[in-house]
Parts: sequence; C-alpha cells; structure tokens
Amino acid sequence: MNIDKEEFQRQYLDKVAKLHGKPLEETSDGERYQALSSLIRDYIGQRWLLSRRRQRQGKQVYYLSIEFLLGRLTDMYLINLGLRDTVAAAFFDLGVDLAAILESEEDPGLGNGGLGRLAACYLDSMAAESLPGHGCGLRYRYGFFEQDFVNGRQIEVPDDWLKTGFIYEFRRSDEAVEIRFGGTVTPELNGKLRYRHENYESVLAVPYDVPVVGHLNDTVNTLRLWSAEPHRTDFVCSATNRNDCLKTIEYKNDVEAITSVLYPDDSTRDGRVLRLKQHYFLTSASLQAILADLARRDIPLTRLSDHVAVHINDTHPALAVPELMRLLIDEHGMGWDEAWSLTVATISYTNHTIMPEALETWPVDLFQALLPRIFVIVNEINERFCRELWQRYPGDWDHIRAMAVIADGTIRMAHLAIAGSHSVNGVAQLHTRILKERVMSDFHQFYPDKFNNKTNGVTHRRFLIKANPQLAALLGETVGEQWVQYPCDLLGLLPHAADPAFQDKLAAIRRWHKSKLAAQILDATGVRIDPDSIFDTHVKRIHGYKRQTLNAFHIMHLYNRLKADPGMDLTPRTFIFGGKAAPAYRLAKLTIRFINALADKINRDKTINDKIKVVFLENYNVSLLEKLLPATDVSEQIPTASREACGTGNMKFIMNGSVIIGTLDGGNIEIRNAVGEDNIITFGLTADEVLNIYERGGYNPWDIYCGDERVKTVLDQLVNGFLPGGPDEYRPIFDSFLHHGDHFLVLKDFAAYVDAQKELERRYRDRRHWLSMSVRNIAHSGKFSGDRTFTEYAVDIWRLRPEAPVRCYCSADEDFARAEGGCTLSRRPALQATLSNATYN
Ligand SMILES: *Cc1c(COP(=O)(O)O)cnc(C)c1O
Repeated sequence: MNIDKEEFQRQYLDKVAKLHGKPLEETSDGERYQALSSLIRDYIGQRWLLSRRRQRQGKQVYYLSIEFLLGRLTDMYLINLGLRDTVAAAFFDLGVDLAAILESEEDPGLGNGGLGRLAACYLDSMAAESLPGHGCGLRYRYGFFEQDFVNGRQIEVPDDWLKTGFIYEFRRSDEAVEIRFGGTVTPELNGKLRYRHENYESVLAVPYDVPVVGHLNDTVNTLRLWSAEPHRTDFVCSATNRNDCLKTIEYKNDVEAITSVLYPDDSTRDGRVLRLKQHYFLTSASLQAILADLARRDIPLTRLSDHVAVHINDTHPALAVPELMRLLIDEHGMGWDEAWSLTVATISYTNHTIMPEALETWPVDLFQALLPRIFVIVNEINERFCRELWQRYPGDWDHIRAMAVIADGTIRMAHLAIAGSHSVNGVAQLHTRILKERVMSDFHQFYPDKFNNKTNGVTHRRFLIKANPQLAALLGETVGEQWVQYPCDLLGLLPHAADPAFQDKLAAIRRWHKSKLAAQILDATGVRIDPDSIFDTHVKRIHGYKRQTLNAFHIMHLYNRLKADPGMDLTPRTFIFGGKAAPAYRLAKLTIRFINALADKINRDKTINDKIKVVFLENYNVSLLEKLLPATDVSEQIPTASREACGTGNMKFIMNGSVIIGTLDGGNIEIRNAVGEDNIITFGLTADEVLNIYERGGYNPWDIYCGDERVKTVLDQLVNGFLPGGPDEYRPIFDSFLHHGDHFLVLKDFAAYVDAQKELERRYRDRRHWLSMSVRNIAHSGKFSGDRTFTEYAVDIWRLRPEAPVRCYCSADEDFARAEGGCTLSRRPALQATLSNATYN
C-alpha cells in the first residue's frame, strides 16, 4: 500500500478522535490499538472487494480445518500491506510505543498445536502466492484454554478472546445457512429414491469472515469462521408459559454449545456428540456456502471439480464426503454415480498422524442418531466400497473388513476420507512412507496413485520477518531483498557462513534478543537467567511422544554431575520449556508439575554457581513462540522416531538460526538433508527400529534401569523425596517408565541423548564453528517456507493455475536436494520448466 508517514499520521489521529473523542495523549494502549486496527480494517475492506471481483473466474480452494491457530494479526497485516516501516516511523514521531500497542492485541488461539498453525500458515502462503485459497473453520467463543501455573500445576482458564470484540471479523448474517441434527429420515419413492428428513433440530450457521492479506500483492482471501446460533423462533418465552420458556433457553444453550469451545471433553457421551456436531456443522455450513457461491458465479454443478477444490485438514472435516453427496443428490437431484465422481474429484485429504489412538472413529449408534441421513449415505459408500474390494480380493473377508469404512460398530473416518477423495497426502517423506508401507498399506495397494507427500512448511513472514525483524534486515542486506519473495535466495548466505564479520552481526542480534527475553522472564517468573548462557528451548504441546521427560532427565543428570563436582567445566545453560497439556491427559499434566518442581529445585540451589537454570513459561502460544525464536541457540526436537509426522516448530527455529538437537523423525530428517549432517545434532533410534520394537517387542526398560547407573539415579529421584512435592507425587511418571513399558522409549534413547548433548556443548564452545552452523541453518531454511509447500499443493493436488506463475523453490525431493547440495537458487529455469509442464493443463 502506498501511503506516506504524514498521511498515515493524519488518518490515525483522525481515527483516534472519531473513535475515542479525546486527544492521543489521553488514550491508553488499548485505545490506541483499537484506532490502529480499525484503520487497518478500513484499508483492507477496499482491497478485499477488488480481490473478490478479480477472483470470481478462477478455481477456488477451500481448506477445511477444525483449528486455525492464527496468532496476533495486526503486525502481520502491516507487514503484508507493506506498511510496517511507515507506521513504525509515524508512531515514533508521535512518541507512541508501537510494540506496546501491538502487545495489547488478543492472540486468537482457535487451535491447539501444529495442525492448526499449519492451517494458518497455509492461509498466509496462499495469499502471498496470489492463489484463491480460503479457510473454513469455527468461530469458537472460547479459544484453546489459557494456562496458568499454581504451585507448579497447570490450571486451565477459559480464553475469553472475544471479550473486547474482534475487529478483523465481518459478520455476514445474510449468508447464514441452516444445519439439521437428529430427527428421522424416511425413504420416498417417487420416480427417484428420495429421503424425507423430519423432526430434526435446526441450527443457524452464521459466517464471520476474516480477511487474509497477501504479501505486497493485491490478493485478499477469506477465512470464514462459522458461529452457531438459535434458529427457530416458534418457542415463545412468556411469563404465562414457563415450559416453553425453559425449552427456549435449553435450545439456545444447546445451539451455542456447538461453537463454544475447541475439543469439548470427550470422556462423556454428551461430549462426544458435541464434537461430532461441530464436525458436521463445519462441513455442512462450508459446503452449502461453496455451492451457493458456485451458483452465484453461474457455474453448473457438473463442473464443480473444475472450479472448486475442497481440502480436509485431517479427518475432523471428513464428513465433507457424505455431506457433499447429500447436497448433490438430495438438494440438487443428481444421481449417485455422478455425485460420487464429482465428490472424489473435488475433495483431497491430509493425514497428520499415524498414532492409532489419534485415528478418529465414531460409534454407529451415536452417529446414526445425530446424523441419520448422513449415516444412510456413509452406509451406502461403505457397501459400494466393499463390493469393489470384493472384486479385487474375492473371498478375502479379513482384508475387506480391515479396509471397510464401517466395521465392528464403528465408522472409521480415515477410511472414509481416503475412499472419498482423490488425493491423500502425508506431511513429511518419512511419514508418507510409513503411511504407504505400514499404516495404510492396504489402501496404498488399492489406490497407489492417491498417495503423495507434501512436506510441511511455515510462513517465514510471521516466524522470521515479524518475529525477528533485525535478522530479516541483515538477510536483506546480505543476499538482497528478493529473498522475501524467493526464500531459497537465502542460500546466498552460504559464502558468508564462515565470515567473522557476518557471524558477529548475527551473534549481536541474537544476544540482543536473549537479553530482552531474559528481562521478560525475570519479570514473568522472578528467575534470573544469564543472557550469555546457552538458551536451549523445548516448546510444543506436552505429550509422551514429544518426550519432554527425556530432556528433563538429562537436566537431572547434569545437575547430579554438578552436585558431585561443583567445579565441573560446563558451559552455562538455560533450559526453557513451554507447552500446554490436554486437560484430560493426566500424565502430561504431571510432567508439567514435575518439570516445575525440578526447575524450582535447581534454580534455588546456590551450590551449582548458576551453571544451569530451568524455566517453564506459562501459556505457550504463537505470541510467546515469536519471542523465543530469535533468542534460542538450541532447539529441542526429540520425539520418539516415527511418532512426529513432521513437526513445524523445527522449521521455525532453523529460520532464526537455532541449531536443532533432534531425533531422525519427520521434518528433522529433511532438515538434516538440507542443512547437512554437520549442522544439526541427531541421535537415537531410527523410525524403523522403533516400529520394529512396537511390532515385535524385545525392549525391557528394566534392563536399562539396572544397567545404566545414571538412569537408575534419575528415576529413583522421582520417588525418593529428591523433588519438592513429596515422594508419591511423581510415582505415576516412574511407573510409566518401569511398570508400563516406557512406551515412548525414553530410557532407550537416554544414553544417546546424553552423548549428543555433550557433542552439542563441544561444538558450542567453538564460537566461530557454532555461528557457521547457525548461518547454514538459516541459509537452507528457504525450502521450509510454506510458500513452497502450498505451491506444491496447488499444482499437484488442487490443479490450480496460479495468477502469477509458480515461483521456483528448492525441490522437496530428497535426492534432488542432496545432489544440488541442499537446494539450488530459486528461479532456476530448468526447474521452473518442469514445474510448469507438470502443472498447467
Ligand atoms: C508451530 C507451533 C506448534 C507446533 O510445534 P511442533 O514443535 O511442531 O509440535 C505448536 N504450537 C504453536 C503455538 C506453534 O506456533
């Protein structure tokens, strides 16, 4: 956007006056934020309208996701509109602290982790690439909970993110649609077989649109968030009829519950019903709006898949398959076969996990009662699918049963998603291989062409340019400003990797962020940390497979060594943790308590000369991560191999020059291939070794407990009163390792991890060497930009013809990447040609 500083100041002061009726000096940060965001909303509105008009012709992509972990929007809007420098300068002149204003924005946390953040990164990348890609999600009244610590324990506080209003949403009541739950369906034969649906509960889905602004281009896409509202008005709440009044209130509460919270507690049947309601509400509302838009564009339904791609992010929106069938057949009179081929051609599916407990299923009775018509369709899909399987595997009932959509009284959503879509992708090469060879091997054999890989990527605009503007500026000076559009230009840093002058600039930037973070941590926790220590960060959801305990056990071991030898030569280190545990996941919550207790013990101990410090920061979210990224030396990415489908935290850290200590899993493997094995520290079991243990057994944690004195000491310390909180407090953790088999193989990897940590410290001590590693990580991070990922989705899966030609990114292909030394500079003509031949039809 073209606006100069003076003009912006004038408009801003005008806004302050109109909105608050008082002079700037008398306004609070919150009021200043309101004025700024309101002005941004005005700027965007106009561009949005033009962008919609331009986009009307092309194919549209709709990305359905139960989560969108957006993070704060204001600064991103400024960056993408090209206004950040102007606004910063304008506020500087006005004597206003822009950073303080931006901090008063709520962090919309409509998601809980990587899956939701990926969806948000995708929106940013699609808009940056001028691709017409829109998000469809739910407008939760409360975001993922806010985490407080009380005596080291996680307390969940509702995230009332809408309390002061959300300025960037546009309510579109006239585009509301009706959603039906429950009731009965009866077949009606009247020429064609039709179903009559009666006695259902009717709910109104009201869309709230959030603009998604492309980076320095004209594109403004839409994130549509649906809100559930009461629909029927035939219950009157009058003083004379108390019963009707209660019914009205009950109905209203039931309806509003649908979009009240993300992931309602599913330990009760009511909770599970609510989740299924959410899934159907999201998919039905989104598909109805998509078909309405098609009609508005005068496109016949028979051309649906030429003009629309519907992508489902994991299986939560997999009801898109039967719901699209329902709309085409019941509402638009199409026959089954035609509807089916359109549905399959329109829908594509991303699988995010191979963990059996995370593969979604629904009991038939619950499903049928809530969604009677959809159940009839799923049943029909299942029968036809099983018939196809029978032709291919005649008589092989076990095989057919293993692949069926409905079996043993449950509906398997992943099977429904695979059968009902034309593309199934994993999110890293290893993950896709495991899907093809193990978890979904039956399906891969049956549909070899459906499976493909799209290694995740993250938006470098948020996680580098926004989070670390100083580094972004240094990169621009060094490799040219074009790296922002062509992140692979960062390879141009390689010649500077060993250049002391460049290294010193990088080190100075990191040191600045470290001391700023240290001050914030002192403020938030009272713990004083040394900005010259190694900042070692482990932030992500708390989960057994992510192995926060492995990190904690190593810290205990270090502490034990220091106690035995206080003079030990150890580079001071600060261990930083962050992450929320699912409210019902007791062991994860206990892990938080355990690490907090450990932190307390270590931080208070004066005898170890502040050699190590441990802090667990409350309420990990996108905003906190943005503060940690530029200040982190070492990033912990240590899941049990094969369990972390890809990971995206790893990518955000290398963009900022952190060095990963990690296992050979998911995205870590591709990062290693890109940056080279000298620039990452890897250790531990491989995925195949882990999977073999899972399949064949042969691991006994007692062997390690008895055979490795270090492990025995640390585990005993969980239950011998070493930690504050009492000897029995942490027994469930102890038991999970020794009595319940150490499912995530923490003890098995312990020795290798300790060695890797030693190696890490050895390398850190050679400052020049360490900085060169850091530079090489940044240099190779372009490949992990979401722009590369989503260009691949657009080309291979959605068959889009981008407005601007697909830009050339480093290949995601491992062999290619190796052959080219990571990846080549972007805009390489040969590769460009390959891409465009493959794409544009
Ligand atoms: C990126 C991100 C994640 C995912 O991190 P992983 O390390 O890949 O698990 C989770 N939460 C937030 C807030 C994120 O930004």
